[in-house]
Amino acid sequence: MPTITPEDARTLARAALVAHGCDAANADAVADTIARAERDGAASHGLFRLPGYVASLKSGKVNGASRPKITNRAPAVLHVDGDGGYAPVAHQALAGPLAAAAKTEGLALAAVTNTHHFSALWAEVELLSERGVAAIACVSFKPALPPAGGTTPLYGTNPIAFAWPRPGRDPVVFDQASSVMARGEVMIAARDGHALPPGAGIGPDGQPSTDPAEVLRGALLPFGGYKGASLAMMVELLAGPLIGENLSLEAAETDPADGGPPRGGEFILTIDPDSARGSTDWAQHAEKLFEAIASQEGARLPGQGRAARRARIAEQGIDIAEDRLQELRALAEG
Ligand code: NDP
Repeated sequence: MPTITPEDARTLARAALVAHGCDAANADAVADTIARAERDGAASHGLFRLPGYVASLKSGKVNGASRPKITNRAPAVLHVDGDGGYAPVAHQALAGPLAAAAKTEGLALAAVTNTHHFSALWAEVELLSERGVAAIACVSFKPALPPAGGTTPLYGTNPIAFAWPRPGRDPVVFDQASSVMARGEVMIAARDGHALPPGAGIGPDGQPSTDPAEVLRGALLPFGGYKGASLAMMVELLAGPLIGENLSLEAAETDPADGGPPRGGEFILTIDPDSARGSTDWAQHAEKLFEAIASQEGARLPGQGRAARRARIAEQGIDIAEDRLQELRALAEG
């Protein structure tokens, strides 16, 4: 099987995006997100998404020349109008002003609207924690999960990400879907002919299924039963009604189903630890917890798996099937 590097992924992605209507700034922001996903072994949010990005440019749904606009709705609430573009463009625009607002006000919210999110959320919370603030982000999508007790998709797979800054070290980050599995992983399982773990989803008949094609026609299930369903509902509210954007069910009503991301919003809350604690010793205090986790046999911090995948990929490269590579090269040639 051929291997490529994360930089090859960036080059391929950038070329395909430019060939299908992105300007340089938009292509660079999205290609960077794709390259970082490939660098860290997040296959379901790397080049796998490129055909969907291209499809949403071709359909005219997404503005490949977006210029996000940032205004204050309140001293600590930044409204980020994504100008109909992809979310990474908005993230790059908002990271500096949002972290600065958190440091001035103690905490700050980005109400991101009019954007299209198709990536892993750790990218944006890391951008913020690199600026010394703690961050929580969440985003909805199109219906994929039923409410607890139901069988009809209503909530998106609705991920929640959290980053804790560690001065002089990588932040501690977790980033998880509200579903047992991310939908992209189910699509990859369908493509590669793998069964899903029991409990991941139900078929169109409402019965449990491990067949990814059946689950894509039916519904994914929330992790932890009704507890995950409540988190998915919270994400719907925070990334929708709270900030003035679509619920997942509304996103589906207007989406042309072109294979790309629907229009939606994102909720990003940032907190300045110095202000919250009233001193700078929060970092040292948190290390006590991280050390206690690491001291247990078999336990690790979230994010360390991704760091290990990053190290392996830096050494061995990214495996990619020849036919997929040809498809991506064809996209890059326009
Ligand atoms: P995973 O279940 O693979 O991982 C969830 C989190 O748990 C990660 O932070 C992971 O860290 C951590 N973790 C895993 N195993 C352990 C362990 N043994 N100890 C401690 N922490 C652990 O992710 P999901 O399948 O839920 O989501 C995958 C991606 O899909 C996410 O990046 C999410 O943002 C994205 N997504 C995007 C959507 C969108 O609309 N844009 C929709 C839904 C999902 P580590 O990586 O280090 O293993």
